[in-house]
Amino acid sequence: MPVSRRALVAALVVPSLALGQAPTITVRAGTVLDGRGAVAHHTTIVIAGSRIVRVDPTVTTATYDLHTLTVMPGGVDTHVHLTSHFDADGRAHNDPGGAEPLEETVLYAEENAYRALMAGITTVQSIGSNLDRELRDAIARGTIPGPRVITSLDWITPADGDADALRRAVRQRVAARANVIKILGSKSIREGGGPNLTEEQLAAACGEAKALGRRCVVHAHAAEAARRAVLGGATSIEHGVLLDSATLDLITDHGVFFDPNLYLVFQNYFDNKPRFLGIENYTEEGFAQMHRAVPLVLEVFKQALRRPKLRIVFGTDAVAGAFGRNWEELIYRVQVGGQAPMAAVVSATSLSARSLALGDSIGAIAPGLEADLIGVDGNPAEDITALRRVVFVMKGGTVVKNVAPQPR
Ligand SMILES: [Zn+2]
Ligand SMILES: [Zn+2]
Repeated sequence: MPVSRRALVAALVVPSLALGQAPTITVRAGTVLDGRGAVAHHTTIVIAGSRIVRVDPTVTTATYDLHTLTVMPGGVDTHVHLTSHFDADGRAHNDPGGAEPLEETVLYAEENAYRALMAGITTVQSIGSNLDRELRDAIARGTIPGPRVITSLDWITPADGDADALRRAVRQRVAARANVIKILGSKSIREGGGPNLTEEQLAAACGEAKALGRRCVVHAHAAEAARRAVLGGATSIEHGVLLDSATLDLITDHGVFFDPNLYLVFQNYFDNKPRFLGIENYTEEGFAQMHRAVPLVLEVFKQALRRPKLRIVFGTDAVAGAFGRNWEELIYRVQVGGQAPMAAVVSATSLSARSLALGDSIGAIAPGLEADLIGVDGNPAEDITALRRVVFVMKGGTVVKNVAPQPR
């Protein structure tokens, strides 16, 4: 049967077009954790441009030979505050403003972003500050290294007003190019964590967010605050220090994501107490409330683990001092909270990506997804503390860290 010249050319051209004609990079791995719970050994991840093409054990050439390492998706931290930093005088600076020029604040934020990336966190949701937007866009331009940034810009609080005012506040954030809406649905745990918005107000804000195609992330400590948020249409409950069993059931039944922050945020405050004390609600009483919160939220987490359908995601609430130590949250969840290491890895990768509505582009090692990969000296699915030894980081097909493992 004669083959037309055009068909022949098409047959030759199509395979390279399918790869986008980008150069192919191969990463040989001793072990691969795909981020969805599967494990493979002695295989190669084939990458073209920014994306994973396939995982293929028959490919033996390696641009990067990580055969002594475990390769897994980069971490997805769903709750950070990139602009929070320590000033030159050592004191914490949580919100942009004061005498500090904004360009100085945003450079501190880039330092936080860089620390997270070097630790193996390739995506963060920063909730938030208006300055996150410029940092997000700068990192996305591809020159300054940092994790992918998803941001709410600054958060919405009861001070924004009644239901109509809250809808306006949501529209304002969306017009300002926020990726997500963050709402303060309860007081800070340093002020007791009680509810501070009605169900009607939460429904107005979350309803407006949903109508504009945005997720609605609600800070809620008290059970009543979380209950109102879930019924109001929240897509994620943050913190939840004071949740009860009935509210955990409600969160589960509504398919809402739960982002408990058990350890890093508190330990970082305790480690750096003199740097925070005296600022806003960082009083002695505020610190006492945080000490009381630690065992409470641990018990909430243990109760949450008993609900297999509850989607527990990985958020650290990282502020000044915590960036680069993000994985300590996950290590604590396993070692103290009792989560299975593989479940913890899945939580911090594919499940957290799904919670950001990015499950089709990041959070797993699978064909078509962005090549956000980390190489770990050890296997986190067997020993979660291996995450302290991230020696290789690739984001979107570009290697941003590749160092020799340290002797242990
Ligand atoms: Zn500052
Ligand atoms: Zn926070």
